[in-house]
Amino acid sequence: MAFRHPLRFVVFALACIIASAAVVPAQSHKTENVIVVMMDGMRWQEVFRGADSDLFKPPPTGLLDADRRAIRALKTYRGRTPAQRRAALMPFLWSTIAAQGQVFGNRDLGSDSHVTNGLNFSYPGYSETITGIADPRIHSNDNVPNPNVNVFEWLNGKQAFAGKVAVFGAWNTFAGIFNQRRSGLLVNDGYTPFTALPGNPRVEMLNALKADTPRYWLDEPFDAVPFYTALEYLKAAKPRLLFIGLGETDDWAHEGEYAEYLNAAHLGDSFLRQLWEFVQSTPEYRGKTTLIVLPDHGRGEGAKWTDHGEKIPESMQTWMAFLGPDTPALGERKNSSPVTESQIAATIAALLGEDYHAAYLKAGAAIGDVLGK
Ligand SMILES: [Zn+2]
Repeated sequence: MAFRHPLRFVVFALACIIASAAVVPAQSHKTENVIVVMMDGMRWQEVFRGADSDLFKPPPTGLLDADRRAIRALKTYRGRTPAQRRAALMPFLWSTIAAQGQVFGNRDLGSDSHVTNGLNFSYPGYSETITGIADPRIHSNDNVPNPNVNVFEWLNGKQAFAGKVAVFGAWNTFAGIFNQRRSGLLVNDGYTPFTALPGNPRVEMLNALKADTPRYWLDEPFDAVPFYTALEYLKAAKPRLLFIGLGETDDWAHEGEYAEYLNAAHLGDSFLRQLWEFVQSTPEYRGKTTLIVLPDHGRGEGAKWTDHGEKIPESMQTWMAFLGPDTPALGERKNSSPVTESQIAATIAALLGEDYHAAYLKAGAAIGDVLGK
């Protein structure tokens, strides 16, 4: 091949450079496993500012059990500054995730995280998060099969992930949200006993507690039961993609029980720590696992903190946290580009080296900042 004109050589050389670049993997990533924990209706206000003593209403007198719980919570989560209060409330998030990963959603610092579905309640929020799409057909919390494919199902359909994806949740609607019947995903939700680890004595005990303790909420048990069931499964089966849905933060908030709402957040934070300690102690996970934490919607401000939905516009506001080997340690994000729940599905896939956004063009794009790009 002769180049009679220097420009032709330049074009040829450029073509060679482009061709050689194309054989290099689009992205080198260390993440082989992803754990997603969602804390239902957990407000960004407490995550970033800590407990708000004004929300204990009426001021606790100490005469009733609820008052005694409130006084204890006030002491446990107190602090002179927001930094002290939030570290008391969510010590793992602030000591480890914020130090080694990224946390979006502190509006006091110009970081915006939100849902795009316009409804600001649970099913639309979970669906947007796992499918990447805010589908107007998803407009109630009814326990119906989700018509949309989700990223967990999509990955489970690939050989490298087949049978290595699992979903655990307190709320009895997750089998519908993940369309368990169509997707074939392993989903354990509500009061359904977990039967995929037969003979595991801890799971048998958890199933007994799930069946035999009072059903304070009819649609979900207390978070400890699904969490520890998920942890047993993580230890025994080593899934590559795990979802854990916690519900108590939302339930206590709807009841106006601010102390229990804070306790549920604190407990959820301890679950994150336990997951991360297991990851660090296990060769299959250490150095190759990313943890993602977020709620499915926010809540109102001030006296409306108990509620959320279409009529409370600020309940679209959320937060999200990322910790893993591909996520640069940018910490608590300030003046960052807005991030949305519809970006989570593609972000999960991208962390695992897969392009969900290319397969579902309507899905939100992956969040580049947490991919190290
Ligand atoms: Zn919710």
